[in-house]
Amino acid sequence: MTVMPRKSLATSTQAPLLLGATLLLFIVIAGALFLNLMRLRDSFSWVQHTNDVLLAISGIQRAVLEAETNERGYLLTGIDSYSDAYGRAREALASRLDSLRALVGDNREHVARVDELRLFVDMRTAQLGRVIELGPERMHEALDILEQARTDRLTERVETSLTALTRVEQALLTERMHKHDRESLAAALITACLLILAVASAAIAAFLLEHQRATARQQEADQRLQSLQAELMRVARLSTMGEMSSALAHELNQPLGAITNYVQGSRRLVEASSHPDKAKISAALDKAAQQTLRAGAVIQRLRDFVGRGETDKTVESLRAIAEDALALASVVTRDRPVDIALALDPASDRVLVDKVQVQQVFLNLIRNAFEAMRDEPERRLRIGSRAAAAGMVEVVVADTGPGLDAQIAERMFQPFATTKPDGMGIGLSISQTIIQAHGGSISASTPAEGGTVFSFTLPSAGVGAYEPRPAPAD
Ligand code: ADP
Repeated sequence: MTVMPRKSLATSTQAPLLLGATLLLFIVIAGALFLNLMRLRDSFSWVQHTNDVLLAISGIQRAVLEAETNERGYLLTGIDSYSDAYGRAREALASRLDSLRALVGDNREHVARVDELRLFVDMRTAQLGRVIELGPERMHEALDILEQARTDRLTERVETSLTALTRVEQALLTERMHKHDRESLAAALITACLLILAVASAAIAAFLLEHQRATARQQEADQRLQSLQAELMRVARLSTMGEMSSALAHELNQPLGAITNYVQGSRRLVEASSHPDKAKISAALDKAAQQTLRAGAVIQRLRDFVGRGETDKTVESLRAIAEDALALASVVTRDRPVDIALALDPASDRVLVDKVQVQQVFLNLIRNAFEAMRDEPERRLRIGSRAAAAGMVEVVVADTGPGLDAQIAERMFQPFATTKPDGMGIGLSISQTIIQAHGGSISASTPAEGGTVFSFTLPSAGVGAYEPRPAPAD
């Protein structure tokens, strides 16, 4: 089971939560904008309403003026058109008062004001009506009524009432506009804050998602590295065991041969003697010789088994193998960085090899190079490849270390040859076994400019991978 690190677990739950919160914020913003629009529409309708009221008031003013003008016209001229116009003005006055009352119907104070206005207007129109009825024929009586109207100051009262209504309505309009402005500003501010919050949370969510993806990628890479390492360790253990048993078998063969010789010599001596238990001793020595031969056969079988070097060859990319091995080896060299250069010939990239085993060879050589360069001021590693003869690819691993120790240069590919206090001296010997099992060869040299160069060959898998370059034309 894979255990997810706590950090990435937290991130993986935070990102969707933040995305949800962002979505919610955007919904709230949309709601706030909608409400604001509704309020705006309301306040527009209030402005419209006030305008309607003001229009109705000025209509009443106009109708009062028309009624009075026509009354005087009729009184002075006696022309009927004046009395007709007066009649129309009076009707208009009544209907405009009705519509004004309907308009302000939701405001009790206004309704009371309009009712008071209607009272004054009715009284005034009643006077006007009487004057029209009397006409120019009864001018004196009519003038008395006019005089009475002047005394009653009815026209003035109507005017005052209309002006008061206008003022109140305008004040209401101003108040409503101010209130609307304040609310709009507050709504705009809240919306802007929410918007900033939403954008910020969207940005954080995006960042967290990216971080989560990067962590997942890193985990994937780590897991790949781990499984690669595990596989290499397994192969390394097997190779080490194989190499050690092979070396032991080689070492034991000689003493076993000597034992066999001694036993056979002893048997001959016993047979030539006159010892009473000669027969028994000979039989025991025969058995000893048989067991020695058996031990030899067991060791031979072990050597054969190890030497068979079974490999699982497939077509692989040399660059991929080298990069994987570098990634593994770099884990141990983090404290002392090494300048690494890959100079691999793309035309010779395909090789027919046991990938894990060749990775092991790369790993051994790279690790040795890193260890050799540990205390060097200049640490450079170059891995190069090029096509070689006989369908092979030559690989070179060069370092800027101190070069090969003269004492070991001759036998460093033999098992247990090491100059390191905690070394096993098995790595190069395993590498040689692997390379030979692939039909290649491995060698080391110390170039004049310093450092060590290991070079080995592997079978190429490319179609016509080795194409000798044409000789340059003279
Ligand atoms: P180990 O690393 O355990 O000693 P190896 O078989 O890998 O075993 O190496 C054998 C010896 O070869 C090392 O002890 C070292 O002396 C020598 N050697 C290997 N690689 C290098 C190198 N790049 N530079 C110098 N010496 C090296």
